Amino acid sequence: MKKAAIVGAGIGGIAASVRLALKGYQVTVYEANESFGGKMHEFWLGGYRFDAGPSLFTLPHLVDELFELAGRNPAAYFSYTRLNPITHYFWPDGSHLKAYAEPKEFAREAERQLGVPQQDVLEVLARSRRLYNGTADTFLNKSLHKARTYLSPDVLKALGCLSDLGLNITMHDANAKKFKDPRFVQLLDRFATYNGSDPYQAPGTLNIIPHLEHNIGAFYPQGGMYAIASSLVKLAEELGVEFRYSEPVEQIVTLAGKVMSVKTKHGNFNADVVVSNMDVVPTYRKLLSDHPAPEKTLQQPRSSSALIYYWGIRKQFRELHLHNIFFSKDYREEFEHIFQQKTVSPDPTVYINITSKLEPGDAPPGCENWFVMVNVPHHQGQDWQQLIADTRASVLRKLSRMLHTDIAPLIAQEQVLDPLLIERRTSSFAGALYGSSSNNLMAAFLRHPNFSSQLEGLYFCGGSVHPGGGVPLCLLSAKIVGEMVPAVLPIEEV
Ligand code: FAD
Repeated sequence: MKKAAIVGAGIGGIAASVRLALKGYQVTVYEANESFGGKMHEFWLGGYRFDAGPSLFTLPHLVDELFELAGRNPAAYFSYTRLNPITHYFWPDGSHLKAYAEPKEFAREAERQLGVPQQDVLEVLARSRRLYNGTADTFLNKSLHKARTYLSPDVLKALGCLSDLGLNITMHDANAKKFKDPRFVQLLDRFATYNGSDPYQAPGTLNIIPHLEHNIGAFYPQGGMYAIASSLVKLAEELGVEFRYSEPVEQIVTLAGKVMSVKTKHGNFNADVVVSNMDVVPTYRKLLSDHPAPEKTLQQPRSSSALIYYWGIRKQFRELHLHNIFFSKDYREEFEHIFQQKTVSPDPTVYINITSKLEPGDAPPGCENWFVMVNVPHHQGQDWQQLIADTRASVLRKLSRMLHTDIAPLIAQEQVLDPLLIERRTSSFAGALYGSSSNNLMAAFLRHPNFSSQLEGLYFCGGSVHPGGGVPLCLLSAKIVGEMVPAVLPIEEV
């Protein structure tokens, strides 16, 4: 039987393991940590459960599809509900908006709360849908590095969208051109952070992102985001995938331009196919150090990172829900701090995710589990201890003011995640959340392909390679790899 070795049990590696097992490979996943999930893991802190990383779930069909491919009923493993409202937005001037799931209801609310014409909101969402539907098959669902992608009829569909794609305008300028209200522009600009980019630099093409949340929907997986990883690991194990934890791959061994095996502390393990779910930069620097690395690709600017304060709060706030955003006064200044000054704004936008709103067991009675996140630059030598302390103080000041409650005395439990820890725990280069940023037009083409053009049998999946970071795109990267890797034919067909 042909063997596949997967380096890393992040969501991309887990999804790839399912796809390769279904293609007939004997699959082993080597994971450096004690358990699976990578950025998508969970932990308990004194009676409070936290999803450590991703909190917003979109495109759930990409998870369902893995169970269906295996002939299983997804609902037997994993369930989720569509959120309505999706997010609660709060501005420093006291205004507040509930982002309802149905576009018409969302548009009515935007008009009611911010005076934004309903029709303009509906037009923007319809345009986002049109552009997503026109371009996803070319830019997201397939390899951008195979000639057949460009020979497909989907390219004509994508070309048809070119004039409307916002290639020569920034995301912010496109939004500001359409809407007069700076608060609604800020709401739309925030979607740039979904792949760690800067709306004042990123092209208008990123305005396809709202389609995912506002037209297709945002979802909550029962059991938290971690349930996505754990249900897929269950499926993978049923398909015969072996997970070897606390066993980092030290080298991808090659011979005559072909992968031969992976080397771990326990020896060399033969593999016909190796899929790296490790960030592509350390994959080259550490596991393939004898091979020339694609320097231009590896030197693409990284995405932003985050400071997360996991707070067990001994109080319940009726005005808060699952996803809450407290905007900064000056968004441009905030992004200048992140991307130019490489530091954190003294008035950051604060995101609070509270799963105990939907799963009361995630916090003790009368309490809430706050995942408090601020966008920050990736690691470039900053003094994170100082930034953690300064940002904590500004977040507490802001939330105490906006929620009319002194928050600090309510913090019963606390843990912090910073870019250095993200790098240490997952090998994500410089602690970037989403691999490289999408701050320029060519970013999509400059991400590493899902295969190696130098080494036969070597493939790549996860947030640092095509089509990019975020859970849905990591699942798509695994799908592209799954489609590229040759199927293992039963003996009689060989
Ligand atoms: P990773 O999660 O990066 O995991 C890689 C795995 O490889 C790790 O387990 C690591 O230990 C292992 N590994 C590395 N090197 C080796 C080696 N040599 N040998 C063996 N194993 C190795 N996305 C969303 O869609 N929605 C969100 O709301 C969202 N919010 C986020 C918030 C935070 C705080 C973070 C950190 C991320 C967020 N993301 C979000 C991004 C999303 O979590 C990631 O894009 C995605 O989980 C990355 O998955 P991956 O497959 O690239 O693997």
